[in-house]
Amino acid sequence: MIYRNYGKGTERVSVIGFGGMRFADQRNVEACAGLVRSAYEAGITYFDTAPNYGKSEELFGVAFKEMNKTRTERPFYVATKSLRAEPSAIRKDLEQSLRRMNLEYIDFYHVWCVMSLQDYYGRKAKGALQEFERLHQEGLIRHICISSHMKGEEVETVLQDFPFAGVLLGYSAMNFSYREKAVEAAARIGAGVVVMNPLGGGLIPQHADRFDFLRNREDETVVQAGLRFLINDPRISVALVGFSHPQHVQEALLAVQNYQPISPDQIALMQSKIKQGFTELCTGCGYCDHCPEGIPVPRLMDAYNHYLLKGEKQALLDRLNWHWSIGKKDPILQACTQCRLCEEACTQHLPTTDRIIEIADLARS
Ligand code: SF4
Ligand code: SF4
Repeated sequence: MIYRNYGKGTERVSVIGFGGMRFADQRNVEACAGLVRSAYEAGITYFDTAPNYGKSEELFGVAFKEMNKTRTERPFYVATKSLRAEPSAIRKDLEQSLRRMNLEYIDFYHVWCVMSLQDYYGRKAKGALQEFERLHQEGLIRHICISSHMKGEEVETVLQDFPFAGVLLGYSAMNFSYREKAVEAAARIGAGVVVMNPLGGGLIPQHADRFDFLRNREDETVVQAGLRFLINDPRISVALVGFSHPQHVQEALLAVQNYQPISPDQIALMQSKIKQGFTELCTGCGYCDHCPEGIPVPRLMDAYNHYLLKGEKQALLDRLNWHWSIGKKDPILQACTQCRLCEEACTQHLPTTDRIIEIADLARS
């Protein structure tokens, strides 16, 4: 395993982190907790969860009970989050997270899912950051961090406004240009950078053929290449992988074990290829999934990814039909009122409304 300092802090975190939102079957407590423990045994020391990733915090709690016995000699670090703006609600969130995870403090506590500067300043006006500072002074949280889906420039503004110890953001070989400024600003300020969706929300492994150019070596998979692209960037403290099965952990470990530095020329070549065609994809984060007309926007955008990647209308219709059970005559495809709410919520700032209209046209034609 490769370990890096988290920003300018002293914590040495594993460059691969355990993202706790993709457990295969949360009802199988022992399998999930076992997966966490085995990742720890293999050298992973950064564990990320959130209060509403199903039972994720409880599952980590079961694993941490055991891991706490060796924590002094083999430290591990826990990250979780609060969506709240009101101080009392933030405190309650934290107390519940601590209880669920059998912990006395949280290492990296995040102001969670800040979608816009307006959202950030709104939470700040309600006293959210002051409450985070109080919790820090009380020793209940070690570091105050922010998790955001804003554009790079906006993340930079926020990092300049408050001394966050680190930032959690979506960043991958697919969308790096969109958040490059944020990573740059964090590195300059000395904030830790943890990246989520390092494999583009599953699109990189699902379209291994299209992302084959990421591979620099014959003996590596596209998943390993995608992870190595991030490991190669010294500004990134942790790449979070949402593990479901032991083989996912093994593949991520192999990416680190056999990692060899990628030359700047090779990185530049990869970046130019990515820039040419892969910044417009939906990562499936689901934040736009609140359409007043009941349109399942992430599903339609997932199908649109297939259209973009394969360049054929039939790929879009097949994906809708066979994967999402949405036939081309389904009235939901024609229900958009163009209110643009989904677009405002889109973490990738995609033109979702235009795409939905285009999907409707393609389905009709
Ligand atoms: S623009 Fe269309 S799909 Fe998006 S939220 Fe509004 S009605 Fe729903
Ligand atoms: S359209 Fe945007 S917000 Fe919706 S799932 Fe895709 S990336 Fe996320």
